[in-house]
Amino acid sequence: MLNNKDIIIFGAGPSGAAVARKKAEEGKQVLVLENKDVVAGNLFDYKNDKGIIVHKFGPHIFQTSDEDIISFVKRFANWKEFRHKVNVVIGDKEVPLPINFKSIDILFPDKAEMLKQKLKETFNSDVTYIMDLLNVEDEDLKELGKFVYDNVFENYTVKMWGISSEDIDQSVLKRVPVRLSYDDGYFSDKFQAVPTTGYTEFIKEMLNHENIKLKLNVPVDLLEIKDGKTFIDGEETDKEVIWTGAVDYLFRYSKGELPYRSLKFELETLELDSFQDRAVVNYPADPSMTRITEYKKLTQQEDEETLLGVTTIGKEYPGSYDKASKDFSIPYYPVIKKDGLNPADVYFKEAKNITNLKLLGRLAEYKYKQMAQAISDALDI
Ligand SMILES: Cc1cc2nc3c(=O)[nH]c(=O)nc-3n(C[C@H](O)[C@H](O)[C@H](O)COP(=O)(O)OP(=O)(O)OC[C@H]3O[C@@H](n4cnc5c(N)ncnc54)[C@H](O)[C@@H]3O)c2cc1C
Repeated sequence: MLNNKDIIIFGAGPSGAAVARKKAEEGKQVLVLENKDVVAGNLFDYKNDKGIIVHKFGPHIFQTSDEDIISFVKRFANWKEFRHKVNVVIGDKEVPLPINFKSIDILFPDKAEMLKQKLKETFNSDVTYIMDLLNVEDEDLKELGKFVYDNVFENYTVKMWGISSEDIDQSVLKRVPVRLSYDDGYFSDKFQAVPTTGYTEFIKEMLNHENIKLKLNVPVDLLEIKDGKTFIDGEETDKEVIWTGAVDYLFRYSKGELPYRSLKFELETLELDSFQDRAVVNYPADPSMTRITEYKKLTQQEDEETLLGVTTIGKEYPGSYDKASKDFSIPYYPVIKKDGLNPADVYFKEAKNITNLKLLGRLAEYKYKQMAQAISDALDI
């Protein structure tokens, strides 16, 4: 299997595919070993029986302002621009998120003008953060900050991370924005898009190179570490190995399992033209669900004639990761403790001593990464 190969990459998600492509274009012979029967990792999507593209592992929008990454991804797919806008349900109202002037108009029709005026005078900027609002002297603005904290931030965070209100890391409030304008875009990047034919095709195209050999369905335990050396299918190798799977599994949990938050998705196909106004609507007050995605709005298939009168939605429920559980067996979000200590450090230390091994990607580096970051890191390797 390893004959004539220069580099062996485990995992055909965006990290594995991007580094494979880069090395292949440098003239290296690359072997990509993926344990699933499909490529694309968390980006995997498919057309359901109605023809709607569904993102199996949650809604994905590609966003970046990095010109090199934009040029790179454009080589492997046509992209439809998608300015992501999210709504949040508060009581019986649905307003744009992040909270902005339009949200304030809808939530507080009687005092919206006064609040907007005070916000402009106090902050003299396009954006402020919940923490700043909670700390201002003005009672009206402080009340607004408290309202956003209680109705948008607190429940969502408690539910998402499975913690109590007291355990919320207050420093995060410095980064939760309130926009002081009518800009209702969720992201501010130059390039915000989805691939026309889906992410799976995009990754397949990235892997489509004469120097890349892809093998699917490989046993999950093909790579083993023994005495600081790498073994593939029982055979020791000193070839360059890039691992994009879970770092704790690579070391067979020798220092314990790493904590993750997981997600459960419930898909429903409904006989409706439209289910909600936006591709994504958040539900902070719901006891267990965080958000609903309406897929044809995300993939911009709304205008396809064959999709009139039908739509697919995905409801998202967070839970604690447990590899033996029915609903929460996929690790999604690393859980970094409040003290900032990374529980994966114990494994990174061991990995450092293995000279031909490189850890890459969200599971191997135990780090939340957007797609653009994952690709950028892979190209920088
Ligand atoms: C709910 C959700 C929504 C998101 N939305 C966005 C978004 O809108 N925009 C954005 O930019 N990012 C988003 N992300 C982040 C995005 O999913 C990641 O950036 C991306 O998945 C990172 O790719 P990766 O290749 O590092 O990991 P992965 O996608 O997890 O790929 C790892 C691959 O390795 C394979 N593998 C694992 N173990 C083995 C093994 N033992 N042997 C062989 N192969 C193995 C896996 O099967 C998988 O194919 C979202 C993430 C989540 C959880």
